[in-house]
Amino acid sequence: MGAALKAIQCVEMVSVGKAVHPRAGDQSYPEFFMQRCTQCKRCTEECPFGAINEDEKANPLPNPTRCRRCGVCMGACPERIISFKNYSVGMIGNMIKSINVPDEYDEKPRILVLACENDAYPAIDMAGIERLSYNPWVRFLPVRCLGSMNLVWMADALSKGIDGILLLGCRHGKDYQCHFIKGSELADIRMSKIKETLDRLVLESDRVRLEQIAITDYSRIPEILDSFAEKLNSLGPNPYKGY
Ligand code: SF4
Ligand code: SF4
Repeated sequence: MGAALKAIQCVEMVSVGKAVHPRAGDQSYPEFFMQRCTQCKRCTEECPFGAINEDEKANPLPNPTRCRRCGVCMGACPERIISFKNYSVGMIGNMIKSINVPDEYDEKPRILVLACENDAYPAIDMAGIERLSYNPWVRFLPVRCLGSMNLVWMADALSKGIDGILLLGCRHGKDYQCHFIKGSELADIRMSKIKETLDRLVLESDRVRLEQIAITDYSRIPEILDSFAEKLNSLGPNPYKGY
C-alpha cells in the first residue's frame, strides 16, 4: 500500500515539476563551524549521499547540490559544529530541556520519543486520527531522520530526569525503508554508543529503545508506547529527577 501511495504521489508531483523526496523544497544547507573541526571525517563517511568531500588536510568540503538536508552529518559530528538555520543540535537540545518532568512523587514517568518525520511521526498522526489511545506520559519530538540524532540529546534528556527515550524510525537493513538510505541504520549503530552514556550516568540500558515502524503500521503505536512505559515503570524513576 505504501508503494502504491508513493507512486500516486510521484505522478502528481512530477506533473507539476516537483520532486518527491523528503525536504524537496527545503533550500537550507548544513553549515560547518570549521574553527572547531578536528578533521575526524565522520561527516564525510556517514553522509548517505556522498555530499561531503574533503581537502588534502581532511577538512570537510560540503557539496550543496548533492545535499538532501537529512541532518545525518549533524548527528554524526562529535564536536557538534554542523547545523542548519532551522535545525541544530542546540535547538533540539533546548526543546528537550523545556519538557516538563514530573517529580518522583508523582509516580508517573516521562517518556521522550524522537520520531522520524518521514514515517514514524505521520504514523503517530494516523494513530491520533484513528482515535487510538496510548500512554499519556509520552512527549514527541520530530527529527528529520533518526540518523540526525546526536548522542548529546540522550545525555541531556537522561540527566534532566526523563525516565526513558524511545527512538522511532524507519526499517533498516535488508528491505530498508529509510528515506535517507542509511540514517535509521546509523542510529542503530549509535545505540551501541549510548550504552557508554548510560554507564557513565549509572542508568539501566533498558531506558533507551529503538523501534522500526512504517506509516502503514500505525496500529502498532499504542502497543509500542505502552510496553515501553510498562518497562520503565518496572525500572522505577530516573534517579536524576530533581537535579
Ligand atoms: S544533510 Fe545529509 S545529505 Fe546533506 S551533507 Fe549532511 S549528511 Fe549529507
Ligand atoms: S564530523 Fe565534525 S569534527 Fe569531524 S570532520 Fe566533520 S565537521 Fe569536522
